[in-house]
Amino acid sequence: MAQRKVTYRLYPTGAQLSALEHQRWVHCLMWNEALAERRRAWGERRKSLKFSDQCKRLTEWRRQSKLLRGINAQSGQVTLKRLDLAFQHFFRRVKNGETPGFPRFKPLHRFKGWGYKTHGDGWRLITNERMKHGTLRLSGVGKVAIRGKPRTPGTPKTCEVIRRGRRWYASITLDCVPERQRGDKLGGLDWGLETFATVATPAGTETIDNPCYLARTLDEIRRLQRDISRKEEAAKKAFGKTRRFPVSNRLQRAYERLRGLHRKVANQRHDFVHQTTARLVGEFAVLGLEALNIRNMTASGGQYKKGLNRSILDAAGGAFHQRLGYKAAEAGAWAIEAPTRQIKPSQTCHACGRQEKKPLAQRRHECPCGASCSRDENAARVLMSWAERQVSGREPAEAWRVVRPNHPSDDPARPEKRETHAIA
Ligand SMILES: [Zn+2]
Repeated sequence: MAQRKVTYRLYPTGAQLSALEHQRWVHCLMWNEALAERRRAWGERRKSLKFSDQCKRLTEWRRQSKLLRGINAQSGQVTLKRLDLAFQHFFRRVKNGETPGFPRFKPLHRFKGWGYKTHGDGWRLITNERMKHGTLRLSGVGKVAIRGKPRTPGTPKTCEVIRRGRRWYASITLDCVPERQRGDKLGGLDWGLETFATVATPAGTETIDNPCYLARTLDEIRRLQRDISRKEEAAKKAFGKTRRFPVSNRLQRAYERLRGLHRKVANQRHDFVHQTTARLVGEFAVLGLEALNIRNMTASGGQYKKGLNRSILDAAGGAFHQRLGYKAAEAGAWAIEAPTRQIKPSQTCHACGRQEKKPLAQRRHECPCGASCSRDENAARVLMSWAERQVSGREPAEAWRVVRPNHPSDDPARPEKRETHAIA
C-alpha cells in the first residue's frame, strides 16, 4: 500500500467562503497563542511544554471559548502538532549547528490553512468511484463543491485545507495501490545546460527541451519585475522615502499579478516534471542518471547558475529525480543514480573509457579513439553503459538496494509530498 496525494480545488459559496476564512483565522490565533504559551513557560519556569501538555490546555481552552468550540477538535490538535514539529526542527537545527530559525508568530496572511487527521472526523469526501470531482463536507462550513481527480483512487486518510492566493484547495492523502506500465528500452539521462536533458539509447540520442511555455512565463515575469521596479522608484521619489512608501492601487495590482505569475511557473514546472517522468518510465526499463547534488556543488556559481531560467529549472532537478524514482518503482523499472564522483560521466569517453578533464565551456567530446559527439550525449552514453552493467542479471528491487543502499526514495511507500502530520 502506498500513499499518494490528490489536490481538489474548492468552489465555496459566499457564506462558505466566510466560514473558511473564519476557521483559518481561529487556527492562526491558536497557533500564536500556543506559541506564546510555550515562550512564557520557558521564560518564567524554564519548562519546555510538550505536545501532550498543549493538547490538555486545548481541552481547557475549548471549555472556556466558544470560538474554539466552533472548530473541529482534531483539527485543533493538528495545528498544535505542527507547532510541535516546528519546535522539533528548531532544536534539531540548533543541535546540528545550522541556522536555528525560531518558530514565528504568524500574521493571518502568512497562515495557509489547517489539517484533519481522520476521515469522517470533521471532514468527509464524497465523490464517484473514480474519485473525480464531488463535494467535501467540512464541519462548520458545509458541503463544498470540489473539482479534481487522483491518478489512482484509494481510501482517504488525511486532509489539509489550504488557501493559495484567493483560491482554496484540499490536499488529501490516499492509501492506494498505484499501477503503471514500464517500457523496455535501455538509456542514460544527462542534465543539460541549454536543453533540459539529453537521453541516450542504444539506437541514438534524443534531447528533452525546456518547455517553451515556461520560457514565455519567465519572460513575462522579467518584464513585470522591471515594471514594478520602475513604479517603486517613482513612488520612492514622490514620497521621499526608501521604505514604507505608500503603495498605489496600480502597484498593488502589479504585485498581485507577479504573485500569480510565480504560481503559474510553479504549476507549469510541476506539470512538465510529472509528464516527462511519466513518459520516460513508459518508455524505459532501465535508465541511468547522474546523482544531482555533486554536480551542483562542483559547478557552484559561474555559467551553470546563470539566469532566472536556469535557477528555476535547477529547482526542478530534485523533484524530477524523486518523481522519476517513485514512478519507476510503481512500474518495476530501474531508474538508478550513478555515483558521479567515481563515474565522472562528462570526463569519461563513452567508447573507450579514457578520462580527460573538460572545462564546462567545452561543449564537444573529442577522443583520440575517434569518438566524437556533443558533451551531453557522451555523458548520457556513459550513464547508459553504467546502468546496463548495474542491472545485468538482477531484479529491479534488488538492483536498487545494491546501487543505493538505504536511500530514502527507494521506499515506494514514501509519499510524494508531506503527509498531514499524524498525531502520535
Ligand atoms: Zn575514447
